[in-house]
Amino acid sequence: MLENKVAIITGGTRGIGLETVRTFAKNKAHVILFGSRIETVEKALDTLKQEGLMVEGYAPNLTDMEALEKLMKQIKDQYGHIDILVNNAGISANKKIENTSSEEFERIMSVNVNAMFNMTKVVVPYMKEQQNGVILNTSSMVSLYGQPSGVGYPASKFAVNGLTKSLARELGSYHIRVNAVAPGIINTDMVAALPKEMIDPLIQTIPLGRIGEPKDIANAFLYLASDMASYVTGTILSVDGAARS
Ligand code: NAD
Repeated sequence: MLENKVAIITGGTRGIGLETVRTFAKNKAHVILFGSRIETVEKALDTLKQEGLMVEGYAPNLTDMEALEKLMKQIKDQYGHIDILVNNAGISANKKIENTSSEEFERIMSVNVNAMFNMTKVVVPYMKEQQNGVILNTSSMVSLYGQPSGVGYPASKFAVNGLTKSLARELGSYHIRVNAVAPGIINTDMVAALPKEMIDPLIQTIPLGRIGEPKDIANAFLYLASDMASYVTGTILSVDGAARS
């Protein structure tokens, strides 16, 4: 479904991102994954290689515009085009407001929102030049309902939806589509890090009766990245088994 497309996926070393890398590569895209540390990038590349999937990877600092601009030029020079950007890197929070420092709040906004802005800003000039492109963002079901603690996380995901809907309007005339997927509770390290007493009761309320798997989200990204979604932009696609946080 993505033959000859060049796709950059942030947070591609594990969880939802790694499964999206795998799914895009199996669908014949040239995938470049980004992670926060070179060791985890290399580990992910090794895993994929053992599965017969050749992928490239880097660990740029997503807040360093100069480094991002340089890397994007390098990728463009190497492949000739940049077709798909998946802004998936993210961190979560679950502490009550009185136990959350302003630095912790800033950190979550920096990774979940500012990095998404930075990546998008450096890729858009190439997509505008091509008059074509797809930008996909990882939101969350908490972007619709909020959550009872860890306010920085839903605040950041409401911002992700704002970026998605606004940029879809700004970039539509350049044939650049911008969409987000809003996962429910997905079986990754991020959820494993949350207290069991917080997650278990939530899983029991999911109408589809199970936790989501990274593959469920990767398949949604595959659809949105492909020409099957050629008239879909500005959408926040819920993939959550009808869970309500
Ligand atoms: P994960 O913790 O398994 O993976 C997070 C990824 O983000 C890793 O590849 C990591 O390297 C990268 N990352 C984290 N901090 C970074 C930084 N400072 N710079 C660069 N990269 C960084 O988590 P996941 O569950 O796969 O989450 C992926 C995305 O899905 C996140 O945006 C998350 O908010 C979202 N999400 C997850 C769930 C869930 O239930 N797991 C639900 C809704 C939304």
